Amino acid sequence: MRAVRMTAWQSEPEILDVPVPEPGPGQVLIKVAGAGVCHSDLHIMDLPEGLLPYELPFTLGHEATGWIERTGPGVRDWTAGEAVAVYGAWGCGRCHRCAQGIENYCEKASQVSPSGGGLGLDGGMAEYMLVPSARFLVPLGDLDPRAAAPLTDAGLTSYHAIKRSLHRLVPGSTALVIGVGGLGHMAVELLKALSPATVIAIDVAADKLDLAKRLGADHVLPGEQGVAFQVRDLTGGRGADLVLDFVGEQQTLALAAAGAATLGEVAVVGMGGGELPVGVGRLPFACSVSMLYWGSRPELMELVTLARQRRITPRVETFPLEQAAEVYRRLREGRLTGRAVLLP
Ligand code: NAD
Ligand code: ZN
Repeated sequence: MRAVRMTAWQSEPEILDVPVPEPGPGQVLIKVAGAGVCHSDLHIMDLPEGLLPYELPFTLGHEATGWIERTGPGVRDWTAGEAVAVYGAWGCGRCHRCAQGIENYCEKASQVSPSGGGLGLDGGMAEYMLVPSARFLVPLGDLDPRAAAPLTDAGLTSYHAIKRSLHRLVPGSTALVIGVGGLGHMAVELLKALSPATVIAIDVAADKLDLAKRLGADHVLPGEQGVAFQVRDLTGGRGADLVLDFVGEQQTLALAAAGAATLGEVAVVGMGGGELPVGVGRLPFACSVSMLYWGSRPELMELVTLARQRRITPRVETFPLEQAAEVYRRLREGRLTGRAVLLP
């Protein structure tokens, strides 16, 4: 089968021919419907050798959906042809957090490496994907799995960031979304679906701001010098009760700190490598900071339910698998709106 493989550090992925895997005991083989193209892959591909415990080559794609093709011995209650989302944060399955479905914060995460399909192990950018345990599957019901792939990372990560801070988003509150790309556009939609907060979205690209507006953002602002003052103006001087930074570079983290409210929260999701300024006059008093990774299995189930209720819909641009390298290039250059999904 064809697969998009990471074959070397600091270089583009290649389309290679690999054998279709056979599911062993407890495992499930998925016929891939779609695999989302995430900016994290660019961060990973840009790293020099030796920083991540990944053995090359492996198939990319940590945001995947598909149909059950075959189940291994001992797997019950899943039927061939059923549409499923693949939960991507593969934890140890036995620690206290994994027992609660919070595999994204598995207590053995440092020992469980590689960390998941598309992240050191073979992922979804191929015709078939081997899922090591049926517990990583969430039924999609009547959702089209081709369009649902972004739920598993772009959607889930945004949902996790918002759900844990919903108590802050009371009537009269403000949420600030920095970076309206694959993750950020889902965050805008989720904030509008789940809370009465006023939503302000910031991006450097006009087409992303147009999308934010269409998804219900109350205010959109170009990410330029002085934009924090505009956030202050729009919030009557208070700042945003929840700031979601989907970029995580020095400049956006400074904006996040300057745009947050006293008693508010800055949730850092973007992995841009910047540092958040903390200190008197730099971060508001009693402002919490969280550094977030993906979401839990129950949260993916909840998110799929929201999508099945048609209360959120990822905005997807689809491409054939063969165009993977070009699609990653477009992502890097900001020439995609919403989420790109590769179709095998
Ligand atoms: P993306 O490229 O689709 O979106 C990034 C958006 O940020 C784009 O719209 C871009 O125009 C905008 N942007 C860039 N610089 C900006 C600036 N200075 N000010 C305002 N906007 C700016 O990327 P994505 O796939 O949505 O991923 C976003 C980030 O989240 C990446 O760093 C990725 O690695 C990270 N990520 C983290 C997790 C996690 O679990 N923590 C999960 C998935 C992705
Ligand atoms: Zn990702």
